[in-house]
Amino acid sequence: MRRSVRGERSKIMKSSEDIAGQYNQFVMPTYAPALSLVRGSGTRVWDADGKVYLDFLAGISVLNVGHCHPKVVEAIRQQAGELMHVSNLYYTEKSGQLARRLSTIGLGGKCFFANSGAEANEGMIKLARMWGNANGRYEIICMENSFHGRTLATAAATGQEKVRKGFEPLPEGFVHAAYNDLESVSSKVSDKTVAVLVEAIQGEGGVVPAEPEFLEGIRSLCDENSMLMLCDEVQCGMGRSGEWFAYSTYGVTPDACSLAKALGGGFPIGAVLASPALSDVFHPGNHASTFGGTPLACAAALATLDVIDEEDLLARAAEKGTMFQKQLAGLVETFEHVVDVRGRGLMLGIVLDQPAQPLVDLLTDMGLLTAATAQNVVRLLPPLNATDDEFEEALDMIRDCLEEWHGTASPEDDDSEIADVSESKDSPSSVAAATETEGGNTS
Ligand code: PLP
Repeated sequence: MRRSVRGERSKIMKSSEDIAGQYNQFVMPTYAPALSLVRGSGTRVWDADGKVYLDFLAGISVLNVGHCHPKVVEAIRQQAGELMHVSNLYYTEKSGQLARRLSTIGLGGKCFFANSGAEANEGMIKLARMWGNANGRYEIICMENSFHGRTLATAAATGQEKVRKGFEPLPEGFVHAAYNDLESVSSKVSDKTVAVLVEAIQGEGGVVPAEPEFLEGIRSLCDENSMLMLCDEVQCGMGRSGEWFAYSTYGVTPDACSLAKALGGGFPIGAVLASPALSDVFHPGNHASTFGGTPLACAAALATLDVIDEEDLLARAAEKGTMFQKQLAGLVETFEHVVDVRGRGLMLGIVLDQPAQPLVDLLTDMGLLTAATAQNVVRLLPPLNATDDEFEEALDMIRDCLEEWHGTASPEDDDSEIADVSESKDSPSSVAAATETEGGNTS
């Protein structure tokens, strides 16, 4: 008798352990993966042993339309059979089409296509430098605790020592000011300053939204000093905040912004969006990327934009985000170690009085994927189209876990724990905590 296709598939499928073994042997240890995942659909993913998880991390804000959205899959399938790639020495329709859509929802000017968040930020930094070059201005004021990527320039822009350590000398021209402290930013302005770079909601910094006066103040400061305001929307953009771009929730418009992560619905693509005044600063030969804006990536992004529109996901993120944040805030009253819940839209963080990784591990065991960031924050970034039932399910799992988890008996007993966790090298969870941010688990 013929064996079913399903049977044949499961016969050749590797176990979680086999997958991890091969990976650990041949992939450089820049990450500390927790699971071997083989399939995703909507808000759910499956590991190689068949266990299903509710994915409230969504690739760290990549899968805003969920795993393998049928429209995105179909667009990729179709485009892959037609034209995957040509050199940027030639025009393609999809890249112009996508640039036009991004101009309409964004800054009204032109865009440059890249492949990742770091590459988009690198392009935005180069754009600002090229703009300021004639006047000898190149310095960019960045924020403490920010995260902008892992290339040398974006690591230099990043306001976290652990991202830069060991890679010196880094490119010059980046200074850091305290986030949500306008005076600190003002004090860094010099005759060399060309721009201020800021995340409207810091993701890796611990899910910290900007204060409205802070972003408004940066806009005014930039106008008064002829500097550019640059927003990194790599994590908080593409609808997650309840608007296409998180800066819009503040009523502030930057001169340029960077995008990546959710733009391609799971397919890699990044972009720099510029205002009309910055749209023709680059000339042929100034900047380039072989894979920037391939027809395949642009088809995936166009389909993703369609899904966000058709499923009304901006409104969904705003409404569901407010509701979910309120429900999560109830945990502060009930559970001793939960001290705050913060964020905007569906970019939310549960703040603990101690390292978050043990709780994240427990949640994973229970079947809910989240991540620890800034040591003591459990980050929640669900797909914007997760269902009401899935939100309920996630909330139940978080409550159950908090009931089971007692954390450190009293934070006063061990108030060095948060500061020390990245120094400790012994336990698996401390390794995960030390690598928990973007270079650890993700990008
Ligand atoms: N900027 C922000 C705000 C991010 O959160 C990230 C990654 O998480 C990056 C830039 C870098 O993006 P990528 O990992 O795609 O290079």
